[in-house]
Amino acid sequence: MNQPSAKKRRAPFECQRCNVCCQGRGGIFLENQEIAPAAALMDLSPEEFIGRHCRARDGRYEVLAGADGACGLMGPQGCRIHQAKPAICRRWPFFPSILANPSAFEDARQACPGIDPEVSHQDFVAYAREQGFNEETE
Ligand code: SF4
Ligand code: SF4
Repeated sequence: MNQPSAKKRRAPFECQRCNVCCQGRGGIFLENQEIAPAAALMDLSPEEFIGRHCRARDGRYEVLAGADGACGLMGPQGCRIHQAKPAICRRWPFFPSILANPSAFEDARQACPGIDPEVSHQDFVAYAREQGFNEETE
């Protein structure tokens, strides 16, 4: 007798590379130590990178947005500094506020198609912990 095959659940988060999270929904900042690796990926000196793509703000560097509001480091193939993208971009969608607050999680789920539309907040938090993120870690 054939047994019904168990439906394979997708992971709670799988990036779909839609780049929606790079469309200007908040300030993207680079710390001092993040500048040189990012500049190298674009064949620029740190000074050239800062001059073309950043403005100094609050002791850090804010990435300039393009005319459409999207992050200025977005290229036709996606993030132009992917291997050295800032901590805030590496962390998304496992922000402390999203892990601590079910309402913030629902907002993130609406914005990010990489989050399983059926996963519970509890299971998402558990998955985030498996990835090394929790409500406290920045
Ligand atoms: S919005 Fe979500 S799925 Fe789309 S690129 Fe960003 S993290 Fe990936
Ligand atoms: S730095 Fe890269 S990953 Fe971060 S918002 Fe800009 S394009 Fe997106």
